[in-house]
Amino acid sequence: MFNTGQQVRQNLKDIEPYKPGLSDEQLRRELGNRPLVKLNSNENTLGPSPLAVQAMQAELPKLHLYPDGGSDLVREAIAAHHGVAPSNVFVGNGSDDIIKLISETFLDDSDEIVMPFPSFSQYAFGAHIMKAKVVSVPLKADFTYDVERMLAAVTPRTKLLYLCTPNNPTGTVLRQAEFSWLMERLPEHVFVVVDMAYDNYATSADRFQFEPRLLSRPNLCCLYTFSKLYGLAGLRVGYALGNPEVFSFMHRVREPFNVNRIAQVGAIAALQDVEHVKRSKQLAMQSRKQYEVLNEYGMRCVPTEANFVLVDVGDGVRVFEALRKEGILLRAGYPGLDAYVRITFGTEAENDLCIEGLRRTV
Ligand SMILES: *Cc1c(COP(=O)(O)O)cnc(C)c1O
Repeated sequence: MFNTGQQVRQNLKDIEPYKPGLSDEQLRRELGNRPLVKLNSNENTLGPSPLAVQAMQAELPKLHLYPDGGSDLVREAIAAHHGVAPSNVFVGNGSDDIIKLISETFLDDSDEIVMPFPSFSQYAFGAHIMKAKVVSVPLKADFTYDVERMLAAVTPRTKLLYLCTPNNPTGTVLRQAEFSWLMERLPEHVFVVVDMAYDNYATSADRFQFEPRLLSRPNLCCLYTFSKLYGLAGLRVGYALGNPEVFSFMHRVREPFNVNRIAQVGAIAALQDVEHVKRSKQLAMQSRKQYEVLNEYGMRCVPTEANFVLVDVGDGVRVFEALRKEGILLRAGYPGLDAYVRITFGTEAENDLCIEGLRRTV
């Protein structure tokens, strides 16, 4: 008899499948056609970039043709956007795809990654599928980075060190001074991945920011995504800026057509959609202010530079369940963050509904 449990790679048994925030489709099944306030996945409440939608519609008749496997036009557009060379750009099926490819490129059995805690779960996922060890380094009590502790966690087996800024789910940023301090001391064998999925929303001048001259460091790459600011989470496009030699190995492990035809034209058009970007950023800024009122009601908001805010509500899962019954979807249940819910910014009206719901519940 075929014994699945015996035949599969044994380390897969320790991997928890990723638990996303409930999708629109799942929610409709569960709650019927009640109006939903979906604030659980850091999506852009303004919808996809209209220019991207137009470009993608125009591309539909070409769907019988394979996409460009090298995503050349996308890389050129991204390169121009950041002032780097196209060879410094690697495009993936979302940044999740890139995190997995980085893991497959670098990690062998018993290698180690160092990552902040709490942070984005995909870094650990990438390590687990490769049988590598995850070394989680707690953020400080105020959720800012503890780079000294991160450095102390590095060993000769450390292959990857992840930084996420603004960090998901805390919204806190890595300071430029902390980044420089760390890079000056980090052993050269460690490859550093800075996930900047929410950097477009960040505003503090002393935060770590990408500059083309950083690419002179061969052991660094920065990750970006079209899923948040550009409102294209369903499309799956992300990219890395970094070292072409590292990318040459990631190309060996990626699928030959990892970014589909529609995604490629959508991403290029979204980059040009200055108006949609401006509106999205403005809404995030207004929302940041709007949620500050929660502090007055005794719910402490972690100061955020992203399109979401982490709020201390006493019992995150209880509050999550209560608001869910009203059709307001938040995120809770993060390890180590029992007291908190993470709230994605919505429209002004959606935020009001959420704030009212929290006042009634907490
Ligand atoms: C949402 C998110 C991403 C983006 O993932 P995609 O696969 O591009 O949708 C990457 N990193 C972090 C920290 C995120 O929160």
